Amino acid sequence: MEPWKIKMVEPLHMSTREQREAWIADVGLNLFQLRGDQVMIDCVTDSGTTAMSSAQWSALMLGDETYAGCDSFYKLEAAVKDIMGFKYVVPTHQGRAAENLLANIYLKPNDGKYVIGNMHFDSMRVRAELAEKEPLDFLAEPGYHSTDENDFKGNIDLEKVEDFIKKTGTENIPLIMMTVTSNTNGGQPVSMANIKGLSEIAHRYGIPFYIDAARYAENCYFIKEREPGYQDKTPKEIAREMFSYADGCTMSAKKDGMVNIGGFLCTNSDEIYAIASELVMCFEGFKTYGGMAGRDLEALAVGIQEGIDYTYLKARIGQIEYFGQCLDEYGVPYVRPVGGNGVYIDGMKFYPEIPQERYPGLTFACELYIHSGIRCAELGTSAFTKTLEDGTVVMPRLDLVRVAISRRVWTNSHIEYIAESIGKLYQSGSQYAGIRKKSHGLVAAQEHFTSGYEFIEK
Ligand SMILES: *Cc1c(COP(=O)(O)O)cnc(C)c1O
Repeated sequence: MEPWKIKMVEPLHMSTREQREAWIADVGLNLFQLRGDQVMIDCVTDSGTTAMSSAQWSALMLGDETYAGCDSFYKLEAAVKDIMGFKYVVPTHQGRAAENLLANIYLKPNDGKYVIGNMHFDSMRVRAELAEKEPLDFLAEPGYHSTDENDFKGNIDLEKVEDFIKKTGTENIPLIMMTVTSNTNGGQPVSMANIKGLSEIAHRYGIPFYIDAARYAENCYFIKEREPGYQDKTPKEIAREMFSYADGCTMSAKKDGMVNIGGFLCTNSDEIYAIASELVMCFEGFKTYGGMAGRDLEALAVGIQEGIDYTYLKARIGQIEYFGQCLDEYGVPYVRPVGGNGVYIDGMKFYPEIPQERYPGLTFACELYIHSGIRCAELGTSAFTKTLEDGTVVMPRLDLVRVAISRRVWTNSHIEYIAESIGKLYQSGSQYAGIRKKSHGLVAAQEHFTSGYEFIEK
């Protein structure tokens, strides 16, 4: 049962199939280019879409808008330290701004080339590439097999990481980042043992180790449920242990911070804090607000505590599990077990007759929108195909479509509608032979936000 009741409601934007067919054709089958009022149920992301609590809305009124040293910052700092235990907190307006600080500190032109991670999120990937570095994923093998069950499919392959460090030399590896949960392959958790193992390797070789903490609370919940030895600990105790292994973290508070905007960088290093607290002034603003209004700092100080509460997390993850069970009635292929922030459909298994170069996942996402008004995000072939310097095209191993579920927003009857719509599409199969690309955007690594496509008729 949800540990909350609804005080305020917002109408859905209802539409017809004919309207949606025209709208999606107008934007070249790019779901990111639709307007919000052209979407009935928006599952494109769980980022910044959380419903805030009455406690958070009240906290907004306490926002102290003092330029330097506002009260609201000290409340946020205390809340973050209480949960994460880091020495320093630098607020930023969202997660990628914290990554930008980190990149300006660790990924300078003379620093090494390779940034190691389990599976970098796209904002960090782009940031590293803009710094002319190469982000490398060392996700352990189970993470690539969508329909095989495994408790911790976000884990990194520790042996491969250590071999790579030995072969490449520590001077070529300026940073190691662990993303919890691993968004890109299904919101899949990383075990405490794996985080500890990576921390030991990083520290043995003297490489800074940061956590991308966007969904740290969901990760802690999975550790409690699945990893021996953690059943009797609270998610907060688990978070403390998890962050004790890292030198710092970047946070997109738009996820487990339970707010619509916000983020921060944490570090234990006096030296890194000294640089970050000056750099933040160039990009975001003074170190006690970092691009956020005082009221937003207040909402986050309350939200971050709500997001790590066990009763909340149980209902949150419970709803995603219920979504998976509804899909099972239709046999829909998705990443198993379900992750923290939604269900990830396996495009190549959903439309097995459509070859990967014709974007099976994107075809599904577009047809789901046309049939049912639900918007989701392809995080597969359109998002992660790379063209190497010699012209070789490398497609990603997984063609996933994320059906993200916003926090505290949907009732289970919305979930049933989404599952039934996907299930029916799976049973009927595609009306098309796939999709082809017509035009593309400027920044290769984020082309999926800007490219244009068209259906290939059967
Ligand atoms: C959303 C996200 C980011 C980037 O954060 P923004 O707040 O969108 O800038 C980084 N890492 C992960 C894992 C994310 O999900």
